Amino acid sequence: MSHIISKFIKFSSNIRIRKENFGGLLFNKSTGDVIEVDREAFIVISIISASEIVDMDALLELPISYKGRMIGKKSIRKIILRLIDLGIFESMPKGFLNEESYRRLEENSRMTIKWPAYTHLSAPETVHWALTYKCGEDCPDCYMERHKREFTSELNTQEAFKLIDKISDAEVFQLAIGGGEPFLRDDLEALAAYAHKKGLVTHITTGRYEIESRRLQELSKYIKVLQIGIKTEELLNSNAKTNEKLKALVAQLNEFNIITGANLIMTGSTIKNLDYIMEVLLELGFKRFTFLRYKPPVKVGRWLKEKPYKDDIWLLENKLDKLKENEKLHIRIDCAFAFLQRELSQQIAEDSGFKGCTAGERIISLAPDGSVFPCSQLTGASFNAGNLLIDDFDTIWNKSSILKKYRGFRTNKSFKNDDCGKCTVKNFCGGCRVFASDAIGSDPGCPDPLYEDKYIDEENDVIAEIQDDIGYTDAGFPYARREDIEKWLEEENDRGYPAWINSTR
Ligand code: SF4
Ligand code: SF4
Repeated sequence: MSHIISKFIKFSSNIRIRKENFGGLLFNKSTGDVIEVDREAFIVISIISASEIVDMDALLELPISYKGRMIGKKSIRKIILRLIDLGIFESMPKGFLNEESYRRLEENSRMTIKWPAYTHLSAPETVHWALTYKCGEDCPDCYMERHKREFTSELNTQEAFKLIDKISDAEVFQLAIGGGEPFLRDDLEALAAYAHKKGLVTHITTGRYEIESRRLQELSKYIKVLQIGIKTEELLNSNAKTNEKLKALVAQLNEFNIITGANLIMTGSTIKNLDYIMEVLLELGFKRFTFLRYKPPVKVGRWLKEKPYKDDIWLLENKLDKLKENEKLHIRIDCAFAFLQRELSQQIAEDSGFKGCTAGERIISLAPDGSVFPCSQLTGASFNAGNLLIDDFDTIWNKSSILKKYRGFRTNKSFKNDDCGKCTVKNFCGGCRVFASDAIGSDPGCPDPLYEDKYIDEENDVIAEIQDDIGYTDAGFPYARREDIEKWLEEENDRGYPAWINSTR
């Protein structure tokens, strides 16, 4: 924690700010981190960001107020110290400021801020955009196959530009481009260039292991990260050709200063072989990994074969703990895996920016024709919130009943009355809607709900009841262990597809 403020500070050019009903959001363009601040802090930030370089002594003498009440010097100082620590403000070497700077600061300190009326965010933080559903790869675990037939049209380049305009005008921070296979679109570079020009931090996810150098070179001007979807089965089959391709791709991306990330879908087989898979990928030059929860693919048989059981999830937790010891590795887990962080305290989760499921709240997704959905996994007619090519952004974001429903899923009866709704960490987890039978309720894949005390009922032990029914040996041991019965229950309840997916296929 800093204790000394140099006399001059300035707002970091790496940060974007956005006004919200509660105060504002600060987005770090380099790390992708988002920080929430209250109204008092946002007022101070707004004054400093509008004033370029600020003399701290002069700032502390100004009458800065919120709701007619002065914000005390102590509070302003505290806010600034915290924001210097977080890299939002930069301390400047001592120097000289002209009269004009002091006049501007004084003028800015009198600015009035009109706070947004809606209590939800004024726009998502990130828009996920499947540019196309076309893809030549035929990966067995691709969930997009479920939606492909519904979206046969794609936006042309001019229409796509129009969408980018709407997204940037709404002050969205990030655009995550994926597919299908986005490299199948010849205008990918033009779209990334346009998004970059409009101030959006843009990422691309691909399933390709071979990409022409000229395309990467062009993209390197507009994107920082390229995520590569790894087909782990090929790695497990020790396919030398595949490994060669991946190694060459990582080297190519390094040459163009694009950060390379590996997306790994945590199927049962991947989890069991994770040590080997990580060893191979590290050898190939990967350092950044995103662990994605396995979502139901189009083939039920594949799901039944590869869906991880509780034991697999516990195994993954152990492996993750060990991997985290290696400080050179950057591992992220996707929102659907938020329960892997369920042991964190609320404070640490908040400070780390963990929010769990944020479908329709902090993210939305776009299909290739511009249709809007709460998240890329909740796609299909029953989740359609409008079309961004036709409708305006604010109407979709503020008025769509689908987005409202998912934004507020934690207050829905179906959620509240089930495991997740009774869990102590529901605010920074909440489970993934994809696995809930009705796509709104509790997540049956959670290995270990943490019930609030008021819901723990020792009288109502289902497993003990089953043991009583089955009976005991002469020595008084139950014929079936608790773990065995848990597994039977899991198989019985949780082996099929979520009902909503069955009904939409
Ligand atoms: S019960 Fe739900 S909210 Fe609690 S840890 Fe599990 S998935 Fe998360
Ligand atoms: S529904 Fe699942 S995948 Fe979608 S935002 Fe929520 S947790 Fe993430």
